[in-house]
Amino acid sequence: MLTTRQLFLNHVAQTSDAPLLLEIERAQGVFMYTPDGRRYLDLIAGVSVSNVGHCHPRVVEAVQRQAERYAHLMVYGELVQSPQVALAQRLVGLLPKHLDSVYFVSSGSEAIEGAVKLAKRHTHRPNVVACRNAYHGSTQGSLSLLGGEEQRRAYRPLLPGVSHIDYNNADQLDRIDRQTACVVMEALQGEAGVIAPAPGYLQAVRQRCNQVGALLIFDEVQTGLGRTGRMFAFEHHSVVPDILVLAKALGGGLPLGAFVAPRELMWALTNNPALGHITTFGGHPISCAAGLAALDVLHDENLLQGVDRKAQIFINALAGHPAVKQIRHQGLLMAVELGSFDRLLRFIHHGVERGGYMSDWFLFCDTAFRISPPLSITEQECQQAAELIINGLEQS
Ligand code: PMP
Repeated sequence: MLTTRQLFLNHVAQTSDAPLLLEIERAQGVFMYTPDGRRYLDLIAGVSVSNVGHCHPRVVEAVQRQAERYAHLMVYGELVQSPQVALAQRLVGLLPKHLDSVYFVSSGSEAIEGAVKLAKRHTHRPNVVACRNAYHGSTQGSLSLLGGEEQRRAYRPLLPGVSHIDYNNADQLDRIDRQTACVVMEALQGEAGVIAPAPGYLQAVRQRCNQVGALLIFDEVQTGLGRTGRMFAFEHHSVVPDILVLAKALGGGLPLGAFVAPRELMWALTNNPALGHITTFGGHPISCAAGLAALDVLHDENLLQGVDRKAQIFINALAGHPAVKQIRHQGLLMAVELGSFDRLLRFIHHGVERGGYMSDWFLFCDTAFRISPPLSITEQECQQAAELIINGLEQS
């Protein structure tokens, strides 16, 4: 008889020839458990999804309660569904005043698509500017924005009118011009390997957008909802976007994305033609209920306040280690630079085989590993994780 692992390889479509291949039976808090009882400390949190930890009882309860009331009823936008309304109201309460309308979708890629479409509709302009080494999704439109030629090349022709600039290079901002509908950018680059904006850079981008009338879209799919120690990464800088893109942690572990914009902008999607963006599952009521419960947990357990202290535990433990070349981070989105892919691969594999931790590298940085655990990780668990990492570095 074939094992579940063999069946996975045979029948579940693969994204690479080297999946981690761990079979997980259940997950709780910061740990994942295999059917044979091995325990793994989760240093990835599903790539910044599980900010409140796996199976938080309040999220589980919210899911159960909503599943008993209703799941899918009708395509997005027609019926008044209280979980959507409650989550939208909560989100706009956390955001600058002008960001008062939430368009719910199902994923980060879809949210990017919607945001860029909205910018085109609003400005009547053809072009989009994005950054090199940025990931914005895998659909044709979001892939066109992706900042790596290797990933884009195979799928040409892509969206016309997209150009790429180097993050943190203020000299290239003149490529944002009066033909630019929008600039899509991260307030902290995730898949580039955790690259922070240089002082003044985001302000300069904002200024240039204002000057030429282009909209500024911040992709906070990875950084939003507390990951960097603030609710949104843009709060670290006094720069606000015209459109904010969220996903990942937004659904508390269930699929959910959103783009948030001023109501008068969002109105463009309702007319001429109507149904300017439509989605069947966008804002799924169970995802919204889970997302609202996750926001309650972030708030009630003061998870944002602990983020910097927890990050510091990792830094204190790892900074002097001879294998560690550099640690880049903002809050609990951390990249630990090892300087070579071979070295990194040994460390990652060791975690899966014997080390008891699960980490990963970054799409555009394969020499650093990721520390982005659930924000609910305790300080003691941070210490424990740091010890697993040090053992991993020494034994791999
Ligand atoms: N933007 C960023 C910054 C992301 O990290 C990702 C996913 N890694 C996406 C967009 C796309 O999100 P999704 O996979 O939900 O489509």
